[in-house]
Amino acid sequence: LEPSELFERTLGADSDIVSKEMYTFSSPGSDERVTLRPEGTAGVIRAFLASALSLPLPQKYYYCGPMFRRERPQKGRLRQFHQFGVECVGSDSVFTDLEIIDMGWQLLRRLKVDSKVELHLNSLGDPESRTAYRTVLERYFKDHINILSANSKMRLEKGAVLRILDSKEKEDHTLIQDAPSLLNHLSPASTQRFQKIQSGLEVLGIPYTLDPKLVRGLDYYGETVFEFVTTQLGAQGTVLAGGRYDRLVSVMGHTRPIPGIGWASGIERLVMLAAGGLPTARDMKPVVVVSPEEHSNRALRTAHDLREQGFEVWSWLWLPPKKQLAKAATEGASYAVFIAEGDQDLTLRNLATRKEGQAASVPAISELLRQGGPN
Ligand code: ATP
Ligand code: MG
Repeated sequence: LEPSELFERTLGADSDIVSKEMYTFSSPGSDERVTLRPEGTAGVIRAFLASALSLPLPQKYYYCGPMFRRERPQKGRLRQFHQFGVECVGSDSVFTDLEIIDMGWQLLRRLKVDSKVELHLNSLGDPESRTAYRTVLERYFKDHINILSANSKMRLEKGAVLRILDSKEKEDHTLIQDAPSLLNHLSPASTQRFQKIQSGLEVLGIPYTLDPKLVRGLDYYGETVFEFVTTQLGAQGTVLAGGRYDRLVSVMGHTRPIPGIGWASGIERLVMLAAGGLPTARDMKPVVVVSPEEHSNRALRTAHDLREQGFEVWSWLWLPPKKQLAKAATEGASYAVFIAEGDQDLTLRNLATRKEGQAASVPAISELLRQGGPN
């Protein structure tokens, strides 16, 4: 729970979240209005300002947990869903933007969904760029007001013209496609910054598409914004999204400007995208330690040492060695480490290929395992 005002002030009154999606109620026994958090960034920055201001910058944070939005429930769009996200507070360097985007990309690669997503990138520019663009865009939408959706008309009347680009109404889509591009109205400084972001992405080998209509729904964004989008989840296509929010702390009433950037990812959508193919314990190549009863203490210690090296280790030391191996096979272990009578060495066997290797110590076994051998 956060004070409702935190979201109202930072996300913007006519954002989707504040205008229709928040679960807000008054705290029993008081007139304090509270809201089930619809997103994580505002709360992280609230906590940062409350208790971490004296720490050296930049500060890096992550969060993970349920979020709540009163939406029409459907596949990939839930009223209680789960997000994890990262924030970096206190650096306005383009390298921070690039590291943050790279972190999202590496995560999607490790989850093996990178081939199913596309990075959409845009720059919202500095306030000066947005003011210039807003005028142009307002004129454009006013010229076509008769074909705008009711919701977008309302936004136009309220002066929330950028928000129209974020409209999910079908009738607005062609109009949005043909709208003037924000990228043509960036200030020289923002243009230069955005070029550095793009060349950095090329250095990192991260493919991207420029999406001048990508505005993100929230008021606090400026300069870099991005979304990793898939076409495989219908209209619920955004799996990881974020951007730079250099104005957020001042909007929250703090006098010294502190820049920030971050992203959030929806866990349910990630799981749907991976379609059961998320890396599991199986991919961690479980190791079974096999030993006759008289060496079970050494086996116990070996399993402990291997776990400390970061491996997933199984053992059935109370069974006869043959049964231990049979168990390993049915459970799907990848390797077995044998502790043998009168042998100081450990034997590592690849259970799929039956190839074996000898090593004198756990660190040496670990090294063998890390190199994928014996195979
Ligand atoms: P959308 O455009 O799909 O409504 P959003 O722009 O509202 O998404 P963000 O506020 O950027 O989404 O939230 C970050 C991520 O959280 C999204 O990319 C998505 O993966 C996930 N997400 C957002 N809303 C929901 C929801 N109602 N149910 C499940 N996941 C969600
Ligand atoms: Mg939404």
